[in-house]
Amino acid sequence: MTSNLTNYHSHSLYCDGHAPIRDFLDEAVRQGFTSYGVSPHAPLPWTTRWTMLALELPVFIHEMHRLREEYKERLELYCGLEIDHIDQDINPQAGIFKNLTLDYKIGSVHLIHNQAGRLVDIDLNVEKFRKAVDDSFSGDVEYVVGKYFEAQMEMAGTGGFDILGHMDKISFNVESYRPGLTSSRFYTDKVERLLELATSKSYIIEVNTKAYAKQGVTFIGRAHYHLLKDMGAKVVVNSDSHYPSLINAGRMEALHDLKEAGIKEVMELHGGKWCNVAIGSV
Ligand SMILES: [Zn+2]
Ligand SMILES: [Zn+2]
Repeated sequence: MTSNLTNYHSHSLYCDGHAPIRDFLDEAVRQGFTSYGVSPHAPLPWTTRWTMLALELPVFIHEMHRLREEYKERLELYCGLEIDHIDQDINPQAGIFKNLTLDYKIGSVHLIHNQAGRLVDIDLNVEKFRKAVDDSFSGDVEYVVGKYFEAQMEMAGTGGFDILGHMDKISFNVESYRPGLTSSRFYTDKVERLLELATSKSYIIEVNTKAYAKQGVTFIGRAHYHLLKDMGAKVVVNSDSHYPSLINAGRMEALHDLKEAGIKEVMELHGGKWCNVAIGSV
């Protein structure tokens, strides 16, 4: 029997996912998952094509509670949110996210400020990222890297979340823009400093496998798994799936690589609590 069949980073029609929640849950049941969490992109104070609306928050939570009842014999179901950190006012600690009956929150950075203080989406494919760096940041990719990690350091300091989402998701695009940059001390120092802060605050560090099938990479990247071990980080392996067919994509490969790096356990939600679960035969 396959073990570690869990995922807590999953989108749906509430945001930019491509299927209703029910389709993800049915697929999870079909694949033998034991525990599953849904985490739409939380509302921002303005409308985007990828975040849910504030008025949908109670609707989502109500639907999740109803589905939890319906699926309780087949799957442990958990209700989460992926919340952006923008600045001191818009972040996982904001009032709008307080007093919600959520099981966990993922803190993520997708947008950063450019030199002129304008907010720019940097969660893009390689071509669009290159254009964004050239057009919105005057080609200063080091500035982009600096701001990206600065925002995550600020988020880790501000708090209000449980899981640090895809912490070096920028790496694939940065490496495409400037080969060699992600293995430089400039970059790895930033990864190390963020991990140190995050583990000191006991956040769970996500190994995000969304890009594994197409690009062979995870976020946090494989090159940094030894840091997770050395720092005794709590680790969760999530697929960040936007399609039901991809709920387990890249997860088994990442679990295998984590095990190779000496990590013996990952975090899973069981009975409403985060538990350390041994990585099985992967
Ligand atoms: Zn994300
Ligand atoms: Zn996501």
